[in-house]
Amino acid sequence: MTHWLCVLVQTPAHASLGSVLSYRSEALLAPGTLVRVPLGKRETLGVVWDGDSAQATGELDPGKIKAIAGALDGIAPLSTAWQQLIGFTAQYYQRSLGEVALAALPPQLRELSPEQMQRRLKRGKLAQAKAVIGTGEGPNGGPLAIPALTPEQTAVVAQINNHPGPFLLFGATGSGKTEVYLNSVQTLLAGDPEAQALVMVPEINLTPQLEARFKERFTPLYGEDAVVSLHSGMTNPQRLKSWLAAHSGSARIVLGTRMAVFASMPRLRLIVVDEEHDPSYKSSEGARYSARDLAVYRGKLEGAKVLLGSATPSLESWHHSRPALEGGRYLRLHMPSRIGTQPDAASARSEQERTRAAAGTPAGLPLVRRVDMNHQHRNAVFSIPLLEAIKERVLRGEQCMVFLNRRGYAPVLHCADCGWKSECPHCSAFRVFHKIDRTLRCHHCGFTERVPRACPTCGNPDIAPLGRGTERLEEHLAELLADVRRPNSISAEFPEGEPIRVARIDADTTRLKGELESQLAAVHAGDVDVLVGTQMIAKGHDFRRITLVAAVNPDGALFSSDFRAPERLFSLLMQATGRAGRDAKLGAGSEMWIQTFQPAHPLYAALKRHDYPAFATAQLLEREQASLPPFSAQALVRAEARTQEVAQAFLNAARAAANTDMALWEGWTDVLAQVTLYPAVPMSIQRVANIERAQMLIESPSRAALQRFLSGWQSVLHATRQGPEGKGLIRWAIDVDPLAI
Ligand code: ADP
Ligand code: ZN
Ligand code: ZN
Repeated sequence: MTHWLCVLVQTPAHASLGSVLSYRSEALLAPGTLVRVPLGKRETLGVVWDGDSAQATGELDPGKIKAIAGALDGIAPLSTAWQQLIGFTAQYYQRSLGEVALAALPPQLRELSPEQMQRRLKRGKLAQAKAVIGTGEGPNGGPLAIPALTPEQTAVVAQINNHPGPFLLFGATGSGKTEVYLNSVQTLLAGDPEAQALVMVPEINLTPQLEARFKERFTPLYGEDAVVSLHSGMTNPQRLKSWLAAHSGSARIVLGTRMAVFASMPRLRLIVVDEEHDPSYKSSEGARYSARDLAVYRGKLEGAKVLLGSATPSLESWHHSRPALEGGRYLRLHMPSRIGTQPDAASARSEQERTRAAAGTPAGLPLVRRVDMNHQHRNAVFSIPLLEAIKERVLRGEQCMVFLNRRGYAPVLHCADCGWKSECPHCSAFRVFHKIDRTLRCHHCGFTERVPRACPTCGNPDIAPLGRGTERLEEHLAELLADVRRPNSISAEFPEGEPIRVARIDADTTRLKGELESQLAAVHAGDVDVLVGTQMIAKGHDFRRITLVAAVNPDGALFSSDFRAPERLFSLLMQATGRAGRDAKLGAGSEMWIQTFQPAHPLYAALKRHDYPAFATAQLLEREQASLPPFSAQALVRAEARTQEVAQAFLNAARAAANTDMALWEGWTDVLAQVTLYPAVPMSIQRVANIERAQMLIESPSRAALQRFLSGWQSVLHATRQGPEGKGLIRWAIDVDPLAI
């Protein structure tokens, strides 16, 4: 008998063809089944979809409907919950079902023929049969070393076990959050032989550390294959292998970056989102989803507990975790103390600790010091007291970390005679001077040239760098510390002692695979005295011997036009602070230095007290007064064209049509009344790679109204694209809950 199936396929964005197509099949296939279908001249991967929830394209002549090429036997259909997650994502983020569904599957699934797939599955089964089930013993045959939980951890774990969640674990850096994740996962797996847990981290380079900790804990209990990773740094065959293990249920724990939120896990019971505030959870291409928000949604859908964790939660999550009586939906859990410094150890507090407590520094957290740069030499990069403090630490054999959020040698090259600057010819931005290979590189389009010998406009040979990036900072610091010698380093080779070692870690020094690992290993091994870098080093890494962290020039974000800039700065500085004094023995003397021209700024004052709640309260009050998220919902439409006029005209035409055409639709006046569309403006970097970019902000006090509006406005945007105002437009896209405006 012939059955008619709806199948999701990946069609190019905005193609006239929808992403849900009709096919014939002799067998009745359940929604969620993976199939191969003919599409045009090729054959492609598709997912059978529920015909009621998706409309198949038009009223096609049944005689023209093609038959599917075959089903991927051996792979169970994707669950109803997974289909619902995809459906929700597509609808909420205003993208096609097919695009979202296919992007959520491992790329290799698209490439393999059914026969290749069969072989792959057979190999997986064999491996699984051979896999040794854990013995519960540690790596050396002894019992597993699992630390006894601290009182704070115990209290938090009890809450997690007794409440449905979602939870926001607000825990200082080094307070033992990861241990809480491990513990929660362990309890879950021990209580249900099929349960699965998903643990997400924001960045690929944080996965190896996490993976090591989870493998150490769980392979002895559940075998080699119980823990798998899923992130874009893996090869396609690796990704497919992890995906299949998760989908078949043989993997009990999936660790991954944002893409892992779509992992097919039939028995998902717990989702952990570590560093939940991190902007990397928001996708910046295709469907611009927030993996953190989808995790909460997915948890509800599948009855899985959701645990968000951070030392500096996003203001959204903080707001959602206000007391239930005030409307909070998450349960806030608090772990204020660093491991090794909890109140029960208070009797052992040193003199130093007591003075710090008097200065408002919580036990075990670094002392925050603000240096007023108004009192320093005008062009000083390092203030004298900071430099002295760095020297002192290095002489004691401790490590320091200096960070600056700008890579390269100098952000601009400049001619003092004629005013020439190193603009990128293709972007509205300057090209950055990289001294190491003497290039000018555009960080937006990648355009790279060798540094000219002389000013290209007036011939002046004396062109000079303006400002500084990490590369210049590293060079400068090495000069300033040139006469300092490493402690106990006198040898035949260095009769006066070894010079100190300054190293740099940023996107430029870690471009090649393995470089980041080897550079981090050098820091851990103590081969580096002072580490210079971008925010890359401020996040997550567990550096044991760093006792001083310095932000040399963080003020910029205080004056940014982006309302989220202070939130990001505060969290970055808090994270950076968390890198200092992680070894409890050294923790008591650790310091975070902030060089600033605004020493009295409330953000720095809150940072000094490590007082995230005070900072959050002040920010939320400002947001509420200005009706900004989380007190309103926002979306952006971005348009790209050869000229700025075309990009803006398209957006403004779609806006005008919303007010004229949509106002005539029955029942839409209410929705329109709750939504504000602002006029189109150029994006902050308005031209990249010769493409002009404009955006339009849409705002509503009601998320539901905004959603309704966008779903209706889609057709208006498509129509505008086809009309005269769409001429010359390259593309447009909607970003719901944008992170940067
Ligand atoms: P966070 O994730 O909050 O930064 P971690 O879980 O990484 O903190 O814990 C910080 C350090 O303290 C780690 O080295 C960890 O092994 C250790 N630790 C965590 N919990 C305990 C505990 N209950 N007893 C002893 N050490 C612990
Ligand atoms: Zn010149
Ligand atoms: Zn450029």
